[in-house]
Amino acid sequence: MREIVVISGKGGTGKTSVVSALAYVAQKNLVLADCDVDAADLHLIFEPDLAETEDFFSGVKAVIDPASCTNCGICASHCRFDAIRVESGQHKVMSLDCEGCGYCYELCPTQAISLPQQLVGQCYRSRTRMGFSLVHAKLGIGADNSGKLVARVKDLARKQAKTEKQDFILIDGSPGIGCPVIASLSGADQVLFVTEPSLSALSDLKRVWELTDKFQIPAQCVINKADINPAVTEEIKLFLASQGIALAAEIPYDGDFHTAIAEGKSLIEINQSKWSPVFENIWTACSQEKS
Ligand code: SF4
Ligand code: SF4
Repeated sequence: MREIVVISGKGGTGKTSVVSALAYVAQKNLVLADCDVDAADLHLIFEPDLAETEDFFSGVKAVIDPASCTNCGICASHCRFDAIRVESGQHKVMSLDCEGCGYCYELCPTQAISLPQQLVGQCYRSRTRMGFSLVHAKLGIGADNSGKLVARVKDLARKQAKTEKQDFILIDGSPGIGCPVIASLSGADQVLFVTEPSLSALSDLKRVWELTDKFQIPAQCVINKADINPAVTEEIKLFLASQGIALAAEIPYDGDFHTAIAEGKSLIEINQSKWSPVFENIWTACSQEKS
């Protein structure tokens, strides 16, 4: 089984369009995993049936039981995050401010404080309208631990691929260079960067490559909208060559990207004769690369 991760370093490069087109090309032989859990959107294109749902718990937050609380104020005066305040004469924990450190729990003389695990999101295993499986997730507003949720999505995708005897897991990775991206990259066999010719995209590409290189994962790159800034496109190509990153494709600006997103379709469904050869070549390059 081979894991291919698509990442971009920044938003707006066309990563979702690239992932959905690659999934269309490889649909009979893959499980798709949407690890962009903070802003998952592949479900908008593939209309999953949400066959199985799993709650995702992570981290703790303090809760005060008013029946046991004597309102002595010890917890509030020691909370370094100012997360315990008095409302209508009762000490209460402001959930969004609580860091779950547990100090108040240790100090409370009446054991009025508990530290329940937090339900921060859901994972889904679905069958898409095209027939292949999609593992995806939704993180609650203001919830953290998205790295752990990404790890769970990947775990479920691996199990599903094993059950179905699929050869590939295609992973839509998270943006940035933090925990979610590290979790997306962990165990990957191939990385595909999607970038665009802007100075910020080039800077982000360099940062995300610095991270990827630590994992020693072979990498390829798609330069999207390559013709809108030829000078920066050349800079990107020089950078790729200097780092031994293969250029998988150079795609000129094309309104089909907007049409596909607006209509909730893969690029290939918008124009098969134009896009099939492009993404079949990229898929072949990624799926055959030896680690
Ligand atoms: S320390 Fe315990 S008893 Fe005192 S205010 Fe806090 S929760 Fe209530
Ligand atoms: S768990 Fe820590 S951050 Fe949360 S209310 Fe208690 S002392 Fe404050």
